[in-house]
Order: sequence, then C-alpha cells, then structure tokens
Amino acid sequence: MSEAWRIRDVFLAAARRAGFQLAGIAKAAPVADFPLYQQWVVGGLAGPLEYMADHRSALREDPRRLMAAARSVLCVGLLYHTSGPERHSVSRYAWGAGDYHDVMRAMLERVVAELQQEAGPFEHRICVDTAPLLERSLAREAGLGWIGRNTCLIHQPSGSWFFLGEVLTALDLPPDSPPPDRCGTCRRCIDACPTQALVPAGGGRYLLDARLCISTWTIEQRGPLPEAARQESGSFLFGCDICQEVCPWNRRAPITAMPEFQPLHPDPDLAELAGLTEEDFRARFRRTPLWRAKYAGLLRNVATAMGNSGEARYLAVLRKLEGIADEGVREHARWAIQRLEAAA
Ligand code: SF4
Ligand code: SF4
Repeated sequence: MSEAWRIRDVFLAAARRAGFQLAGIAKAAPVADFPLYQQWVVGGLAGPLEYMADHRSALREDPRRLMAAARSVLCVGLLYHTSGPERHSVSRYAWGAGDYHDVMRAMLERVVAELQQEAGPFEHRICVDTAPLLERSLAREAGLGWIGRNTCLIHQPSGSWFFLGEVLTALDLPPDSPPPDRCGTCRRCIDACPTQALVPAGGGRYLLDARLCISTWTIEQRGPLPEAARQESGSFLFGCDICQEVCPWNRRAPITAMPEFQPLHPDPDLAELAGLTEEDFRARFRRTPLWRAKYAGLLRNVATAMGNSGEARYLAVLRKLEGIADEGVREHARWAIQRLEAAA
C-alpha cells in the first residue's frame, strides 16, 4: 500500500474514533458546483445572506484560494439527530446546550493530531461553517452524500441531519468520488416548503431562494421582517426543518448520543422568552446556536409567533415588548397586537 493510501486510512479511522459518522476526501481543486453557486449569487437569491455573496464569493471557486498549499480536503459529517418532540419551534440543529462549531473544531483538532503523529507536521486549516468554502459541494465530492432538491447533503442511508466540517491539508491523498443523486422523482421537499423557497436552477438541480426561506428570516435577517414573512413564519422561532423532515431519506435517520445536541429547548415557552433580559439571554444562549439570532432577533421572532398564535393571552406581554429599545421588536409587537385584537 502506498504511503498516501496508508495516511488516507489513518484519517478515516481517526475521524471515526473522534466521533464523526461520515468521512471522506475531496481533491483541493475547482469545485464542480461553483457555477451553480455563482448563479445563486448573481440571481440575488442570497438575499440577506450578504456574507455568502460579498467579495469572498470568488474564494469559494477553489479551496486553494483559501490555502495555496492545499492538496486535499478532509471532509467529515457529525450527526445531530435526536429523538426530540415532533412539535418544535426551534430548528433541530439548535436544540442543544453546545455550539457545534466549538464541538467539531475540537474533534477535528484531535483528528489532525492523530494524523500528524503518522504523517509528520503538515500545513492545514480547520474549517467549520465560517470559512468561505462550498462545504456541501466538497462533502459531495468527498463521497459523503448527494445534494438533494432541498439543497441539503443527504447520506444514504443516514439522511441529512449532519453538521459538516473540513480540514484543508497540504497532504496529497487519494480522493473519493461523489455518490449518485437518489432524489429520483421525489418532490416532497419542494411541495412541503410553505414559502416555495426551493426553486429550479436547470439541469434538475434546485436552489434555495434565501429571500423566501423561514430559516433565513428567523436566524439571519436583522430588523423588521416584511409583512408577508411575518405571517408565513408561523410559530417558528429559530429556523425551519420542514424540507428535511419530509425527506424520505430521513425516515430511518440514526440518533446521536452526544450530550451537546440533546433537546434542551426544542419548543421554548413564548411568554418566558419574552420576559428574558439581555443578560438572561446571554447567560442562557451564549454558547448555543440561538446566539446567532441575537437578543433583538429572538424577541422579534417571539412577537411574530405570538401574533400568529391567535391567543389573546399574549396581549399583555406583547404590550411590554412594545417598550423594548429595538425598533424591530417594537414593530413586530405592534403588528402582533393588531393581529390578535383583530382576531378577537
Ligand atoms: S427551511 Fe423551511 S422555508 Fe426554508 S426551504 Fe426549507 S421548508 Fe422552505
Ligand atoms: S424530499 Fe425528496 S426531492 Fe427532496 S431532498 Fe428528499 S428525496 Fe430529494
């Protein structure tokens, strides 16, 4: 066995030992999906996801733009699926007490340390979500799954409830190849999306129109949401999992035992959230994915969900939210009050 194949096996074993369910290797080379990504950017489909469409866009063409010496991209997937409640207003990935960025980075550091024991020191860069990389496309090229019409990476037979991470490395290792697309004639995600945010991109591929997606609105968008978005957000407080929940490949998704991802706040009480001070919010959510929405964003979403609930018992607490400094929260509280009063 050549040295490169031996190191490849060391990586795969180290990834498994660290706790990753999926692992594979992509070549550090131009990413096949880059033109599709460009189509998404040029078409304005990134909407408020400015960090996905700004001057860093070009870096996503090739991982070597991020690290010139890169020869291989070690790709991993970490399962976050738990047996939590069916009804939830927070996206599954954000249910737990831990921030997956920290968890995965520490795991990947262990993988790199093991590899360096075998291969000696090598230049590398660990990436978990925040670097300008086409993570799903690289994971596909590394054989971890195909990209479904819901735009998620899907592994047969484990489904799509995976966090993705990468190590760019100067090691030149034998790459994997992408698996076939197994969406077949299914359109469940497209039909189930309440806002028709999954749009055809030609060639049988689909793109997420982030301007229409409840996840974008409730997690990434700052300030007041457009009127239509408020109603369509329904009871969602942070993210939306509908297009993954309806996917048949998630029917038999395995369950993770990792304590960091166990359901801590899948469906928090709206009135309780509305009563949080900024300090309370920091203490409770600082190291969880919900931190991303920021205090004002979460309260804005709470006001929206109250407005959509049809429950007059929230009127008193909404009147208190009208006194919050943030204009987005105040605007949503006013909107929710009017909606509940009109329904009474
Ligand atoms: S996350 Fe929800 S709103 Fe966004 S594409 Fe999926 S189903 Fe549609
Ligand atoms: S729901 Fe159907 S079309 Fe959508 S990603 Fe899953 S298999 Fe593909």
